[in-house]
Amino acid sequence: MREQNQNTPPEPPRPDMRKRAALLVFLPLLFLLPWLSNSFASRDVETVPYSFFDAQLEADTVQTVTVQGEKITGTLSSAQQYTDPQGNSRQITDFLTYVPATVDTDYLREISRSNVEVTTLPTRDNSGWVLLLNLLPIFLIIWIFVRFNRASKQQGGGGGFPGGMFNMGKSRAKKYEKDSSSIHFADVAGADSAKEELEEVVDFLQNADRYSAVGAEIPHGVLLVGPPGSGKTLLAKAVAGEADVPFYSISGSDFIEMFVGVGASRVRNLFADARKSAPAIIFIDELDSIGRQRGAGLGGGHDEREQTLNQMLSEMDGFETHESVIVLAATNRPDVLDPALLRPGRFDRRVTVPAPAVGDREKILKIHTARRPTGDDLDLSAIARSTPGFSGADLANVVNEAALMAVRASRTAMIQEDLITARDKITLGLKRSGVVMNDLERKTVAYHEAGHALVAARLPTAEPVHRITIIPRERAMGVTQQMPDGDRYLLREDYIRDRLVVMMGGRAAEEQIFDVVTSGAENDLKEAHKLARRMVLDWGMGDAFRNTAFGSDSREVFLGNDIGKQNEFSDNSAQRMDEEIHGILNDAYRRAQELLQNNAEPLARLADALLEEEEIDRTRMDELIGTGED
Ligand code: ADP
Ligand code: MG
Ligand code: ZN
Repeated sequence: MREQNQNTPPEPPRPDMRKRAALLVFLPLLFLLPWLSNSFASRDVETVPYSFFDAQLEADTVQTVTVQGEKITGTLSSAQQYTDPQGNSRQITDFLTYVPATVDTDYLREISRSNVEVTTLPTRDNSGWVLLLNLLPIFLIIWIFVRFNRASKQQGGGGGFPGGMFNMGKSRAKKYEKDSSSIHFADVAGADSAKEELEEVVDFLQNADRYSAVGAEIPHGVLLVGPPGSGKTLLAKAVAGEADVPFYSISGSDFIEMFVGVGASRVRNLFADARKSAPAIIFIDELDSIGRQRGAGLGGGHDEREQTLNQMLSEMDGFETHESVIVLAATNRPDVLDPALLRPGRFDRRVTVPAPAVGDREKILKIHTARRPTGDDLDLSAIARSTPGFSGADLANVVNEAALMAVRASRTAMIQEDLITARDKITLGLKRSGVVMNDLERKTVAYHEAGHALVAARLPTAEPVHRITIIPRERAMGVTQQMPDGDRYLLREDYIRDRLVVMMGGRAAEEQIFDVVTSGAENDLKEAHKLARRMVLDWGMGDAFRNTAFGSDSREVFLGNDIGKQNEFSDNSAQRMDEEIHGILNDAYRRAQELLQNNAEPLARLADALLEEEEIDRTRMDELIGTGED
């Protein structure tokens, strides 16, 4: 998505990377250097077998000899014919050979008795340049270490092997320099109350002295809470853009490393860096990954995370009142955070970033379509109304998919149809080609969907049917899509019960027509069970446990609140709850059956039309079944 690109800091020039690669290639060569130096030193000297040397001694053609341990170099008084093992002959005057360990050391006396000039050297060749050559690789390796370290420091950490090898503890924060963050509040649609609160944060950063003048303490921790994709990260970037201060951003999971102690030292470095460039913002994304309650979770091995968390707490406590460094953090799981994080002086301000309501959805769509070429038939408000529950990220995704659709259709601008197709793709899955259902299956699906739709149409509190389709999609063979008229914040009991009836409508229709049920209702039944369970356990809507909430919350264990926590009810109660849930579901099924039996004719009409037309929208449905009693 585009604003993400805009926000990426300009890539620092990285010639280092290429140099590093080159160095890595040359590194092994360095170890070959001493060997090479040996062969270079004896460039013009022929290495000959001992037998050749022996023969020359016999022939008295040897002039000088230098003995160094087992190594003998020498010159001949005149050039001699030498044939190497490969059979090549040439004239040589200088030679090198090695004395076999078994040769009697008396050979030296023999040599000196002849006319040969003999020099002996100590076994180790200490001549300066050889020593230097031998040390060179070590110097080079040290040099490379220094360079790598410096290079990775310039990049502020990061970097792959081997940059990271030398600075594991360095903060991995990405620093967005002042004007590189071009995101502003105007780029965030909706979320007005969140923006309002964050504007205050911007003001703290810009006018820190005004606050300290009256002795007001600047809040140091602000926690952004909201469902995934609601724009928390975006808002944090916008704060940095508005305040025009350095922005250190790090994701909680970056802290968690294999090496013990690394997370904690990262935190230390991150805070140290930010303090140096105050006023500044530290943004910790996905705080829950380090900030989970200490001592929770399965098994041991959480020491590293706890150390990191402890370090962060102590860094936050270490802020002086006048220091204008603000730590923003984002999470979608505030419930699992360690309570110590939320204490005054730490993340004591909480800004809620809710999932967008219909008005905000339209604004988000507007922002994202405004960046792209669009046709003039766009009706964003219709898309916004038909996407309840979509997050900002989902909507951005819809617009992007629509742009892709436009390209696929060789259009240069996206039109409403692209948006609709993109939305359907995301809600229903893409149409599946190549699925061939037999006639009975198609008929079953048609009645199933017609059953849902008819029940929905006849129940006063049910959401109106938006569309019915029996075109097979990725996720389902058919879909009945309902569309709420607005966003709901409270769920009324009658509404929930009617909703269960609609869910049961599919299977009830199958049974009514074919006298048998199919596996096609799996999803309906699961959803219905989930809802009924919440009615009983969370909302106190059952009969036996009216007005009692036990909490159905079966939080995943690994997120670890209290593992050892026992159910807050007895086995006996659990059984009664199951019975209650079952009763609610059966009741809903019975109501669906009754309703469909009373509407047998419209049901058949709707199913036949579906078989014929495959897809039916709201207007067509009203035509077919009317709005009231048959
Ligand atoms: P979160 O951090 O809450 O999970 P993000 O901030 O990463 O969500 O949002 C993901 C993307 O969704 C953003 O990059 C942006 O394109 C889009 N988005 C989310 N909320 C909004 C919004 N209110 N206005 C504009 N775009 C949004
Ligand atoms: Mg995020
Ligand atoms: Zn169904």
